[in-house]
Amino acid sequence: MSATSAAPALSPAGTRVFQQLVRSGDASRTALARDTGLTPGAITRAVRPLLEAGLLLETGDRASTDGALGRPATMVTVQAGAHQVIGVKVTADELFGVVCDLRCRVLDEATVPVNDHGPEAITDLIVGLVDRLRTGRPEVGSVGLAVSGDVDAATGHVGYSPFLGWRDVPLGTEVARRTGLATTVENDVRALLTGERWYGVGRGISSLALVTVGTGIGCALLVNGQVVHGGFGVAGEVGHVLVDPEGPLCHCGNQGCVEAIAGSAGILERMGQAGFEGLGIGDVAELARSGQPDAVRVLAEAGRAVGTGIATIANLVGAEHIVITGEAIGSSPSDAPADAGAGADEQDYDVMDPHVRSAFEQRAFGSAARAAIELRPLRFVDWARGAAACAVEDFVTHYGRS
Ligand SMILES: [Zn+2]
Repeated sequence: MSATSAAPALSPAGTRVFQQLVRSGDASRTALARDTGLTPGAITRAVRPLLEAGLLLETGDRASTDGALGRPATMVTVQAGAHQVIGVKVTADELFGVVCDLRCRVLDEATVPVNDHGPEAITDLIVGLVDRLRTGRPEVGSVGLAVSGDVDAATGHVGYSPFLGWRDVPLGTEVARRTGLATTVENDVRALLTGERWYGVGRGISSLALVTVGTGIGCALLVNGQVVHGGFGVAGEVGHVLVDPEGPLCHCGNQGCVEAIAGSAGILERMGQAGFEGLGIGDVAELARSGQPDAVRVLAEAGRAVGTGIATIANLVGAEHIVITGEAIGSSPSDAPADAGAGADEQDYDVMDPHVRSAFEQRAFGSAARAAIELRPLRFVDWARGAAACAVEDFVTHYGRS
């Protein structure tokens, strides 16, 4: 969905310059011309409406000089606080909201518990959270929402969200109408990837796979610099890659999917079959660390399933970098939200790490095995920041267009 600003529309060159600056924070006019391939005159025309709107600032007093000419460089700097966005991650347990500036730095955050999963109830909670976070912040101009499942980012419709039990919910339209703010809705893992692409490990990388391990196994793909949405909102479903045709049943109706083996429900179910009832993921990890054979076996199988799944992704799209994350991967106790739900104990999935890597190395074909694999914690604030990054991207891309 597009921004509601009354500002004059940017030319395509202006949009490119604005995108470049929001990503880098500042740049000299010379560097902007070099990086965008535009002439100095085109740069001047591109930045003028953004300078007038207070979104950019020009300074000529930087100590550095402008290339070989020895003149003081004219620096153009993003006024990051001039337009602020609210990012909200929607889960079945809570809403997590942040206010960010144009550089996606978190200025404020708040959470709201969720008791009723109905679309109307959650929309009310989102509107209330947005109102709370924007109080005293007239710079807030747009909202980004991250929701798990099948989301049409172009229309803001949630087609299907299994964890919320939603089908065909016009979430973006409704939140935009009630808040008066431009609203973007994105699949939560793709939102996380958008944040990484702009401000994290994805900067300067054209092919990146981001895999989330938890209740479900999610994946978002950056291929040739573009976030892959898929023809029908489905792409990179690593959770439903076949690992073992004789393996456990998956909720998708198939047998032996990565998610059935490595999702937290699958892990706990197989521990239950081994006689360990009522455990959390943290308990399984603790048992594995102490050498309990069933826990060691179940987590090794889970790690190998994830490694096989990401090798399949790497073989298909040639990812340069693969980030595996989850609420429970390597997080420190201080990072973990108090009510992050089952599987939120620290370092629970670290036991899986060597199995992920060995299965990946075994299955990745040729040079695909050169992909760098990084396991790291995921905090709920990262999800919300990803939603904010989607709102920033939408604001920059559609600046001035109605
Ligand atoms: Zn499946």
